[in-house]
Amino acid sequence: MQGDFYIDPWKPVNRAIITHAHSDHARPGSHYYLCHHFTKPLLQLRLGDNNYESIGWKETVTMNGVQVSLHPAGHIIGSAQVRVEYKDEVWVVSGDYKTEDDGVSTAFEPVPCNVFITESTFGLPIYKWKKQEVIFSDMKNWINDNHAAGRTSVVIAYSLGKAQRILQPLAQTGLPIFAHGAVFNVHQTLVNNGWQLPLVNRVAFETPKNDMAGNIIIAPSGAESSPWMKRFAPYSVGICSGWMQVRGNVRRKNADAGFALSDHADWEGLLTAVKATGATKVYSTHGFQSAFARYLNEQGIEAEEVKTYYGNDEEENIEEPSKPAS
Ligand SMILES: [Zn+2]
Ligand SMILES: [Zn+2]
Repeated sequence: MQGDFYIDPWKPVNRAIITHAHSDHARPGSHYYLCHHFTKPLLQLRLGDNNYESIGWKETVTMNGVQVSLHPAGHIIGSAQVRVEYKDEVWVVSGDYKTEDDGVSTAFEPVPCNVFITESTFGLPIYKWKKQEVIFSDMKNWINDNHAAGRTSVVIAYSLGKAQRILQPLAQTGLPIFAHGAVFNVHQTLVNNGWQLPLVNRVAFETPKNDMAGNIIIAPSGAESSPWMKRFAPYSVGICSGWMQVRGNVRRKNADAGFALSDHADWEGLLTAVKATGATKVYSTHGFQSAFARYLNEQGIEAEEVKTYYGNDEEENIEEPSKPAS
């Protein structure tokens, strides 16, 4: 490639540009990483000390004559779309994105381009998210009901992204919030870097059971089926994931409640985003990329699917087991 850099490389490279700190996009072993300022401490947390350079939104860096800038993707804190300009042609690599403003991540901004590489995790028309206020209010009601019945609410949310997004609504219940270590480490990193987030306590070995009883626990996917959960009994489990929109997935995951809250764009969001770029060529990756590309072609937008390794981050892992065949 002319610019001599790779975006979210799967293998170690000389120069990597990282869209966001989820594990399927930010891989260890590269010599140099360029990311947004907000992403840098998260990369340090997850990949350890390395050669990181960070820039602000829309700041341009030139690499071998190629102009590179980062633009908000609205997926998680620091998540960016990468705009690449060379000889009057503009490509934008979306990374993961969502079009709804979650109040924590910098809100998605469409970037005009000739070629748009879009994610398509939920690229089927059946995926249509409710407004987050509606989902948050369902969550709060569920938590209050659990509390009244003397049960602890265990909310399953991936540690980087959704765990921060749900904090404000959870705090509105007035109940103390506790977090699994994986969630707490991300939380602490963000707080240390100046993010103002509601108070979260770590679930430690010595934390008295009575302190947590009837209150809120945030845990990553996988914890719901581990012995770690025993200390919270009696409890109810609620899973936050876009896949919870599909009937039967709540039961299949042995959860008591499902909240279809996703940090990826739904079908409408993907279409809106693609059209807003004005791109004449679209490549789709992640999830339902072939269905989405087919639909765009039918709409007169030239599109092709790209197969990648992406789509195995913590978020998508919650969702993957129950994913319908595409
Ligand atoms: Zn992601
Ligand atoms: Zn991803």
